[in-house]
Amino acid sequence: MNKTDVRLPRKGKSKTEVLKEMRAFAQGDADYRGAKTWSLVYYLGDEHTKFLHEAYGLFFSENALNPMAFLSLKRMEAEVVRMAAGLLRGDANVVGTMTSGGTESCMLAVKTARDRARRRKRWLKPEMVVPVSVHVAFRKAAEYFGVKAVYAPLGKNYRVDARAVKKLINRNTVLIVGSAPSYPHGMIDPIEDLARLAQRRDIPLHVDSCLGGFLLPFVEKLGYAIPPFDFRVPGVTSMSADVHKYGYAAKGASVILYRDMDHLKHQFFICDDWPGGVFASPALLGTRPGGAIAAAWAAMQSLGEDGYLKAAKTTMETTRRLIDGIQAIPPLRVIAKPHMSVFAYESTSPELGVFAVGDQMEKRGWNIDRVQRPDGLHAMVTPRHAAVVEQYLADLRASVDEVRRHPELAERGGAAMYGIIAHIPLRGMIRNEMMKMMEDMYGPEGQMPPLAEGPPDDLATKAGLMFLRLRKELARKLGRKS
Ligand SMILES: *Cc1c(COP(=O)(O)O)cnc(C)c1O
Repeated sequence: MNKTDVRLPRKGKSKTEVLKEMRAFAQGDADYRGAKTWSLVYYLGDEHTKFLHEAYGLFFSENALNPMAFLSLKRMEAEVVRMAAGLLRGDANVVGTMTSGGTESCMLAVKTARDRARRRKRWLKPEMVVPVSVHVAFRKAAEYFGVKAVYAPLGKNYRVDARAVKKLINRNTVLIVGSAPSYPHGMIDPIEDLARLAQRRDIPLHVDSCLGGFLLPFVEKLGYAIPPFDFRVPGVTSMSADVHKYGYAAKGASVILYRDMDHLKHQFFICDDWPGGVFASPALLGTRPGGAIAAAWAAMQSLGEDGYLKAAKTTMETTRRLIDGIQAIPPLRVIAKPHMSVFAYESTSPELGVFAVGDQMEKRGWNIDRVQRPDGLHAMVTPRHAAVVEQYLADLRASVDEVRRHPELAERGGAAMYGIIAHIPLRGMIRNEMMKMMEDMYGPEGQMPPLAEGPPDDLATKAGLMFLRLRKELARKLGRKS
């Protein structure tokens, strides 16, 4: 069906019918309940989820835009911030706000640092030094907020090279960023080294702990060696931590923390001459859904330290089993020695394309994320994966065998596309194609996604329609060229 055929139903449908339709839409969606996804959803199980629904529902209509109208939300937000600050070893001065997610938290860290620096040096052409492995949210912030991102290369074991960071700092630098851990390789950057650099020059240091903020404190408690990454390190001035990731809250919940109000105050937006009234807003959004705040508070209260410890233990043990299993399948190799439960693995043999292995895994029902530079397959492990480790490894062995027997698979499907994306000097073309795809997807003529019956058997299911389209485009282009 074409988008242009879609219109508001003339007469409202019965709620039963509407719900039935929606359930049908979900037929072809990724199977996170069966632990087939390795990102996107942090699922602790049906019981926990039902509880989150209830907590969310209690504050479904409430709006944290004006916390004075809903002191309940103000209280829960303040408590989530305090609990997160405690986990990340902040003292009583640490302050912050809840946000809609990691992207908002990271973007606000950039905006805050920019505005704080501007207050002091009006001539500033703001720049920030970030690891190349930093989350894409910082690249987005750079574009949105006009802060030039300067990328520092990774050093040993895929942690940012602090000496390179030092060389990239100049008088326009308003922020340095490190990850704990990074999304692509699961590595914690050398935060202490970065903090020394930052503190000496009075530059803020943001630690992006969106992934690790609600896991690393517990992993550390379990006795694993975790390099210092939080407010214990002097020089760390802000941190982001996603409650909707390893905090197991409902989506739409993250925390941005600052060492003190001298930083946070630059995040606030205040307008005193708007005809609509005097307006003050703590973060990016206007209306802020009360449900997300409530569910985050509820998740933390109900899981408690023991609940998170238990989840962390299973997560780490499952990660160990997976990594050992993958290392035992030549020529696969885990790319870095990850600090927690996020990692990527590559193929050490040029004869065996790792993206082709990824395609075979998707054929077997798994949702696999790809990374590039170096090429690899990615995994973010949760307790739910404990039950599927053996199946995953068996399928991985079978996939490697299949690609070994059919090397031509590397020239096909998703493998060909990701291979192209990773290696061709045609980045400009990829960008253009992506842009066309987005325009198509959000434009008036775009096709509606077909109603799938069960998971699509095509490859690259994870990135869905977008990648299917790109692949077709590329195949067409390449076909024309060769
Ligand atoms: C997920 C993530 C983000 C962005 O978070 P969203 O909630 O997806 O917006 C930022 N940094 C890291 C390291 C992440 O893993």
